[in-house]
Amino acid sequence: MSANLARERKMLVEKLKIEGIIKSNLIEEAFLAVPREFFVPDHLRMYAYSDTPLPIGCGQTISAPHMVAIMTEELRVKPGDTVLEIGTGSGYQATILAHIVSKKPGGHVYTIERIPQLARRAVVNIANARPDILYCITVIIGDGSKGVELFQPYDKIIVTAAAPQIPEPLIQQLKPGGTMVIPVGDRWEQVLQVVIKDERGYVSIRDSIACIFVPLIGQYGWRNEYDYIT
Ligand code: SAM
Repeated sequence: MSANLARERKMLVEKLKIEGIIKSNLIEEAFLAVPREFFVPDHLRMYAYSDTPLPIGCGQTISAPHMVAIMTEELRVKPGDTVLEIGTGSGYQATILAHIVSKKPGGHVYTIERIPQLARRAVVNIANARPDILYCITVIIGDGSKGVELFQPYDKIIVTAAAPQIPEPLIQQLKPGGTMVIPVGDRWEQVLQVVIKDERGYVSIRDSIACIFVPLIGQYGWRNEYDYIT
């Protein structure tokens, strides 16, 4: 089972490289080093290397591998970075990021999840999959649409749920020279936006690709699951 999954992981990475989705060595290496099967429910392990989102409970999903790769490439995360992720979900994206930032001392991933059961499960998933990098991941329970004041500013911010607009606190908590990726739009269609704050603090926004994420629910997101169905 496990040898098969390792082979499937390699095949998926090859496919994402051929498709031009995985571009950098750092991200290729991270995808090979983080076993996705630890982040999906047991009965779905056989689908861990299908390039699709999968349910993780509480009505939420682990994103498709190609989307994790695209967002990680757009984020331009590097060893030593301090990263904030909003939407921990299964903990898979946080672990991919931690594999990269942990290559240089000081690198850390703060990840925040609004559903406590998922946050607790994510810690277990990370500990089972990559106990060696658990030390550089902090999982927080709360409303990430407000960011996380305590550990700001961040070199990189990645939002893995869809917002109606870019939350102002996230722009404030991004370092000058920093990058944020965030899906912005309505329920059924969003655009992945890449937000760059230059060294003088000026912000520019570029549209990347069309995408579909579960909603960001909170003070600076949607009010609830139904708010955005209009
Ligand atoms: N990055 C995750 C992974 O690797 O499995 C997938 C994230 S899933 C697509 C989106 C997550 O965002 C859900 O777990 C959802 O509960 C969470 N979420 C939605 N609104 C949030 C908020 N305001 N603060 C924190 N988490 C939020």
